[in-house]
Amino acid sequence: MPNTPNCPKCQSANTYFDGMLFICPDCFHEFTEKTSEVVEEVATKVIDSNGTELLDGDEVTVIKDLKVKGSSMVVKRGTRVKGIRLSSEDPTHIEGKVDGSSIYLMTCFLKKG
Ligand SMILES: [Zn+2]
Repeated sequence: MPNTPNCPKCQSANTYFDGMLFICPDCFHEFTEKTSEVVEEVATKVIDSNGTELLDGDEVTVIKDLKVKGSSMVVKRGTRVKGIRLSSEDPTHIEGKVDGSSIYLMTCFLKKG
């Protein structure tokens, strides 16, 4: 018995494959792939000030003088930050190293490249 996915319509396990489609004998639903396993991705995109998607490892340029919270450090406009890391919890911030310190930067003040 080939392992067929459950019917995405009625969840029946009696589905069979006819060479082209999976067919559910219970509700006569025909389907192609394992659609029942499609998981809705709610991954939030991390975007820069231009709406360009940022990815782990990208290089960004700071477009505005930024004060670093909790320190006297100021990240100057035009500072390039290499190898950024995205935060899994907060899409409005990325982590990057500036002058050897790991800091969080707001993505709305960054430009990719
Ligand atoms: Zn069905």
